[in-house]
Amino acid sequence: MLIVKKFGGTSVGNKERILNVAKRCIEDYQKGNDVVVVLSAMGKSTDELINMAKDINPTPSKRELDMLVTTGEQVSVSLMAMAMGSLGVPAISLNAFQVAMHTTHRYGNAQLKRIDTDRIRNELEQRKIVLVTGFQGIDKFDNVTTLGRGGSDTTAVAVASALNAKHCYIFSDVDGIYTTDPNKVTVAKKLETLSYVEMLDIASEGAKVLHNRCIEVGQKFKIPIITKSTFNNKAGTIIQDKIIEDTKVKSIVKNDNIILVNLKYENYSIQLFNQIYNCLLDNGIILANFINSSIHSLDVSFTMKSVYLNKFQNILETEFKMFNSTFSNISRIAIIGHGIMHDDKILRQTLDILKINELEPISLETNESKIAITFKEKISNSILEQLHTKLIV
Ligand code: ASP
Ligand code: MG
Repeated sequence: MLIVKKFGGTSVGNKERILNVAKRCIEDYQKGNDVVVVLSAMGKSTDELINMAKDINPTPSKRELDMLVTTGEQVSVSLMAMAMGSLGVPAISLNAFQVAMHTTHRYGNAQLKRIDTDRIRNELEQRKIVLVTGFQGIDKFDNVTTLGRGGSDTTAVAVASALNAKHCYIFSDVDGIYTTDPNKVTVAKKLETLSYVEMLDIASEGAKVLHNRCIEVGQKFKIPIITKSTFNNKAGTIIQDKIIEDTKVKSIVKNDNIILVNLKYENYSIQLFNQIYNCLLDNGIILANFINSSIHSLDVSFTMKSVYLNKFQNILETEFKMFNSTFSNISRIAIIGHGIMHDDKILRQTLDILKINELEPISLETNESKIAITFKEKISNSILEQLHTKLIV
């Protein structure tokens, strides 16, 4: 059987951990399986490389930045090959160029187009463990690209799909997906299984578990994704599509890293609107919940991730000095599970909890698999706990 496994940065963070991963993969190999392992850069090394770049040039060329950060993954795969060699097992490391992992040419956020499998298959035929760099690709001019932070997950699922593997394992320092963040609600439980849509909702609502695009790739090519811990043998969570109609809340995500922005200006025109929006897009700032609450003047509110705040304030300072702006730290809660829109009991119970706690939402959105509430302020973990108790346990 062919086994594809991906290990994250923490899992290969030092010599002992690299040897631990090597041993785990060798067990699969010695049972006669073909083994392909995708790795991220060790520990925090991608952040360190980015800091080195910014230290020498605060606005480095995107091409050179990709050239630099992809070295992190190359360190991991080559050390892993050496570790396996020291344990007497033949292994070979391959980078994106050697595999031929074709992407678009958008540096820093490229998309995978095609993965050649000849080289990997050749090495497997020679009974080697194949170690592939995650996160990186090459464009049509052989420039090195990256898939965006956390992109090794996407490499792994795409490699699994290109090789027709039965599923793709993603190993990290957490042992699966939980009913809510166990750091916020201690009674949170690990989920056995989730659909791709539910997992996408969980990831895009801010739970940092998997790279969003790996879930999309898994869904598109029907590759079940199994998330597990590198540090124990517990069963993980399987992400796959099963045809069952069970309306049930699977997970609740509370995101406290959101800023509510309000901009006011007496003149409103579509040109001005376009100008702001394009400028933010150029700077990679993504807005959500955009509303203009006045017809004749500009009075817009929207939310964005707090990581964008500094960059956004700089843009206002340099390009849109005329706006009156206010910023507040807020929370958003998303209740996720298939078909929950069709069960009004879930929405009623949620509204009851908001009422008891005298909370005012600024928006409430519902769709097939999600109820999402954005609040005017930061809300406590006790609200999350109350929702979790009522809707899940
Ligand atoms: N090393 C890259 C990052 O830190 C890619 C990954 O970890 O998936 O973003
Ligand atoms: Mg990751």
